[in-house]
Amino acid sequence: MKTIGMIGGMSWESSLEYYRIVNETVKARLGGLHSAQTLMYSVDFAEIEVLQSEARWDEATAMMIDAARRLERGGADLIIICTNTMHKMADAVQAAVNIPLLHIADATAAQIQRQGLATVGLLGTRYTMEQDFYRGRLEQRHRLRVLVPGADDRATVNRIIYDELVLGDIRVESKAAYVRIMERLIADGAQGIILGCTEIGLLIQQQDCAVPVFDTTTIHAVAAVEAALATITEGS
Ligand code: GLU
Repeated sequence: MKTIGMIGGMSWESSLEYYRIVNETVKARLGGLHSAQTLMYSVDFAEIEVLQSEARWDEATAMMIDAARRLERGGADLIIICTNTMHKMADAVQAAVNIPLLHIADATAAQIQRQGLATVGLLGTRYTMEQDFYRGRLEQRHRLRVLVPGADDRATVNRIIYDELVLGDIRVESKAAYVRIMERLIADGAQGIILGCTEIGLLIQQQDCAVPVFDTTTIHAVAAVEAALATITEGS
């Protein structure tokens, strides 16, 4: 089994989910006492959030590269960045290490295409919904049509992430707000909804939505396990 290097802490609420899912997936695949071989470098999210909100992306990139190099030095065979937003610097991180980085948007697009969908709604931080690094990759590399909520709805989605979800604060009224926003995306033509922030799965599940939801945390964690087990046969 290969060692999965995880850049976590963004937020730790979702890193916990990643850790649970990679271990449950290895257990389901290999059985017995098997669990995932992992390294996690977990950052202080308060520092990251300041760099994001002040658009100090060069410093944020340097922090992600430093984390990736620590994981590589520690023996990781592959790397995942356990947040959608910080894939803004995924190419720079990949260029700085000699081990593969599994991109969260690529893993998610593969699932969407497996279900034969062409148009998807995207929920995430304002950076993920509004900048090109994520939508652009889905649209250009994977030929998906990506719908994002209107300006007011984007502000609501973003506020709930940073004021509540990354603090582990799960509220009924916020769930209702997300459901209404997903309904508007569906009315606009979304055939599926990307939960494009790794904490949204704490608030929204498949039963809350009339079309398929794509939980990037689960998809990314499972893809990492598939890569880690690529040369291992079932039951070994
Ligand atoms: N975990 C969130 C994401 O997937 C937001 C936290 C962050 O800004 O990295 O985008």
